[in-house]
Amino acid sequence: MSEEKKPTPVTMKDVQAKAEEKKCQVQQSLVFIEEFLAEPMCGRCFPCSFGSYEMRIRIKKIVGGTGTDEDIARLKRISTNMLEASMCKKGKDTAKFIAEKIESGEYAGHIGKECSEKECDTLFEYIIIPEKCTSCNICKDVCKDNAIIGEKRKPHLSGYLPFEIAQKRCTKCGECIKVCPAGAIEFISVCAEKEPAGV
Ligand code: SF4
Ligand code: SF4
Ligand code: SF4
Repeated sequence: MSEEKKPTPVTMKDVQAKAEEKKCQVQQSLVFIEEFLAEPMCGRCFPCSFGSYEMRIRIKKIVGGTGTDEDIARLKRISTNMLEASMCKKGKDTAKFIAEKIESGEYAGHIGKECSEKECDTLFEYIIIPEKCTSCNICKDVCKDNAIIGEKRKPHLSGYLPFEIAQKRCTKCGECIKVCPAGAIEFISVCAEKEPAGV
């Protein structure tokens, strides 16, 4: 009878390596805590188990653009508590990793809805710059989500609908920006001031 091979347990090194595939420090924190919760966290002590779950909730808020200074303060308190009271090194290492990321300053940037690495999708949107758009229709053809509105320009005809992106439908797949021959599509921070059309 052939022996069934047991899956290799996920180590803290694996968790860290997975997190460091991201560039943004807040994204790194989220991946770290989700990977930790999925396996190495055993739930045997409260400071680590409750702390990790609450960390995930607070970090998700920050990644999603609704985080506040209170979330950062709370994350700091949780990591201090986890560092002091966790039963094993795994909980303490998690606390250290998150505390280091908070100190990077990128957390504060995200409270202002800025992700310098452009990895937190909710803080960015694709837009079409009207002055650059030639109304060629190429982007509309590649958008699988029907998020692009506009009419292809026909020679000698006026009164066509200009191209724009319906943000509620856009899934931020990035396909349109790759194909625009005029460089008219940009991925900008939701905080960036948009120039009014036609200026
Ligand atoms: S600190 Fe260690 S023992 Fe406590 S829940 Fe975390 S992994 Fe388990
Ligand atoms: S990013 Fe994707 S979903 Fe959004 S408009 Fe471009 S192609 Fe469509
Ligand atoms: S591909 Fe670029 S130039 Fe063509 S319609 Fe779309 S945004 Fe405008």
